[in-house]
Amino acid sequence: MSSTNSLKEEALHYHAKGRPGKIEVIPSKETASQKDLTLAYSPGVADPCLEIAANPEDIYKYTAKGNLVAVISNGTAVLGLGDIGPGASKPVMEGKGLLFKIYADIDVFDLELNTKDVDEFVRTVKILEPTFGGVNLEDISAPECFEIEERLKAELNIPVMHDDQHGTAIISAAALLNALEIVGKDIAHIKIIINGAGASATSCTRLYCSLGAKKENILMFDSKGLIHPSRTNLDGRKSEFANGHYPAETTLTEALVGADVFVGLSKGNILTEEMITPMAKDLIVFAMANPTPEIAYEKAMSARKDIIFATGRSDYPNQVNNVLGFPYIFRGALDVRSKVINEEMKLAAVYALADLAKKPVPDIVNLAYDHDNLVFGREYIIPKPVDPRLLTTVAPAVARAAMETGVAKFPIQDWDAYELQLSK
Ligand code: NAP
Ligand code: MG
Repeated sequence: MSSTNSLKEEALHYHAKGRPGKIEVIPSKETASQKDLTLAYSPGVADPCLEIAANPEDIYKYTAKGNLVAVISNGTAVLGLGDIGPGASKPVMEGKGLLFKIYADIDVFDLELNTKDVDEFVRTVKILEPTFGGVNLEDISAPECFEIEERLKAELNIPVMHDDQHGTAIISAAALLNALEIVGKDIAHIKIIINGAGASATSCTRLYCSLGAKKENILMFDSKGLIHPSRTNLDGRKSEFANGHYPAETTLTEALVGADVFVGLSKGNILTEEMITPMAKDLIVFAMANPTPEIAYEKAMSARKDIIFATGRSDYPNQVNNVLGFPYIFRGALDVRSKVINEEMKLAAVYALADLAKKPVPDIVNLAYDHDNLVFGREYIIPKPVDPRLLTTVAPAVARAAMETGVAKFPIQDWDAYELQLSK
């Protein structure tokens, strides 16, 4: 049996064995006695109901809302599998719930919505707002994902984040800042090639610009070529990155000559060794198409010795993995009852992640990756997902940014106590 086949068998067995799926609901209060049940349900339950009716904010005191995130998809852009439908997306959404729980002790209800209609999607999430402390939108195709997120952010009073856009942007931005630091380049003066102009690529590029990258130095490509002002009918957010400083017919191969950074959020195997060879000294290549990157690790490493290379894969160094972000971003946002996840909170996560990679790595992380000593450098530009310090570093940074920008309804008073509570 090939290794792909055996992985398939194992994955199917893993999901089907025992109680099917990956998550369950477990009571968080004692339920052994009749008295317990009297308190948990009728008649005792009426009292918290009345308290909440009188003071709506008490919903956070008496219910699970404050630690409950909705992971919501319509299954239109699932992993790299495309529009496979809401039911088929459920294993991914349950998986996301599992990651929220194990990394940040956040409970998740996954909701797979049977609609492609933006109004219906928005209305559905809106009427679910009372149940949840936050909303993680997931695997929704572009350009609908932009409108859905923008409208929900504007209309809901709880944090909303489309992780495929912002998670990737935050993690790759932290990796980019560190890679630039290693090679001693200034983000304001680098030429960046972005291949892909969809949900993740445009959000990443926006964030790089807010970190100092200059639009005139950025060339973005979609499946039809350079995003240029002469292109008509550009959909989604493409026109925001139209660059008229280069000829409209510039190809990806031409654009890469002398470029400092390549960011791929497009399709596997579209970049050759010959294409990256003429890039600038100390080139940075993030080939993040999943599961097959724009160029394979082995090819990229053999093309240039001075490369810093990252992918979305766990089996190579420098994995740009969204799990470094979403559990901790929502943890910080929930813990201060933030009304939103704003730009400052995202930037706080970027800097916290970038800083953490420069700190000495605990043994537990080295052991998990069979490494003697991971140190900040070309092969270690972002923290590893198993790093227990992510929770105590990123969540407080996000919470602090929420407080500083006036969106926290429940500010943290004692930071030492908060960090202690997180590390328990
Ligand atoms: P998306 O919204 O569908 O965007 C894909 C973009 O790639 C589109 O703009 C498309 O062009 C473009 N494209 C396709 N083939 C191309 C080619 N040969 N040359 C140039 N551009 C091409 O998808 P997405 O959600 O942004 O994800 C894109 C890729 O990134 C996927 O492989 C996904 O798995 C991966 N990803 C990885 C991470 C990670 O590593 N952490 C995170 C997010 C996404 P058109 O607009 O012309 O169709
Ligand atoms: Mg996703």
